[in-house]
Amino acid sequence: MGVVMKNIYGCTLEDLENYFMKIGEKKFKATQVFEWLYKKRIHSFEEMRNVKKNTIEQMQRDFCMDTLSIEDKKVGKDVYKYLFTLKDNEHVEAVLMEHDYGKSLCVSTQVGCNMGCMFCESGRRKRIRNLKTEEMVLQFLKIEADLNIRITHVVLMGIGEPFDNYENVMAFISILNTGKGIDLGARHITVSTSGVIPKIQEFMKEKRQVNLAISLHAPNNEIRNKIMPINKAYPLNELFPVLKEYSKKTNRRLTFEYILLSGINDSEACALELAQRIRGMNAYVNLIPYNETSHLEFKKSKTDTIMRFYDLLKKQDIQVTIRREFGSEVDAACGQLRSKYEEEKHE
Ligand code: SF4
Repeated sequence: MGVVMKNIYGCTLEDLENYFMKIGEKKFKATQVFEWLYKKRIHSFEEMRNVKKNTIEQMQRDFCMDTLSIEDKKVGKDVYKYLFTLKDNEHVEAVLMEHDYGKSLCVSTQVGCNMGCMFCESGRRKRIRNLKTEEMVLQFLKIEADLNIRITHVVLMGIGEPFDNYENVMAFISILNTGKGIDLGARHITVSTSGVIPKIQEFMKEKRQVNLAISLHAPNNEIRNKIMPINKAYPLNELFPVLKEYSKKTNRRLTFEYILLSGINDSEACALELAQRIRGMNAYVNLIPYNETSHLEFKKSKTDTIMRFYDLLKKQDIQVTIRREFGSEVDAACGQLRSKYEEEKHE
């Protein structure tokens, strides 16, 4: 069996510094290499003109620069949806959304997902594997190059539970955030979790000021148990004390994602219960109109129900926004493009 080479896009600056010291080179070489990769965006080792020939040859022996291929791309109003093929022929999606405040990329972190949220297309397929760091970095680089843009925000909210792939996700964030790397501000990066308590506790200790979003989607255990199996392992009465500790320790504002599902979690009583649960926390609620999919029976809440929910939260002094709807015309619900592609392939 051949040796699997490490992909250079999977290395943090620290990994490269350790590498260069190990091969008897100066630590600062790592910064030079990082600049070639992320500032000048070269595509081969030979293009690193200030690096000595024998160092380049050594790097070619130790690393590969394999990239991802774009299998499909759908364009809608202010939204671009990409389907990538990975080396082992698996597929993941990433979505670029154009907001007034900038260009935001939603990145996938796993192939499939084990969380099994009932309303989610991605959750219909169990996790096959975690994405490697480079597979997340390359979603970013490929889309920037394809659209010839600078991405201003990254949300880890695509296929997968990021905290189920903690180490690779943290390395990805490090590459995004490092000044010599992609140099995206920590406050422009958001990790979204369905509520994996031990990992939230670990994340609390991280130095970077990255935002945390919680996929809440229900104001109580009764409803949450029905739509998010993870709630049985980490119920709200255990999750909230940890979130309060998180806010206190980090001083960072939390986001609660709340997909409004018709007849399930969109009643006035739900809005009031939600307000009561988060009152006093440094947090805001992001209401998300549901993207219906043909495989799942959940329905999107009516517009006046959404507005009523929003008003009730406002009246309770809760900070709240309604996410603009993106791309029902491009199957923007996470996992939809991939499942469509795979169905067609298997027909
Ligand atoms: S919503 Fe997120 S955590 Fe839940 S099944 Fe889908 S991808 Fe997984």
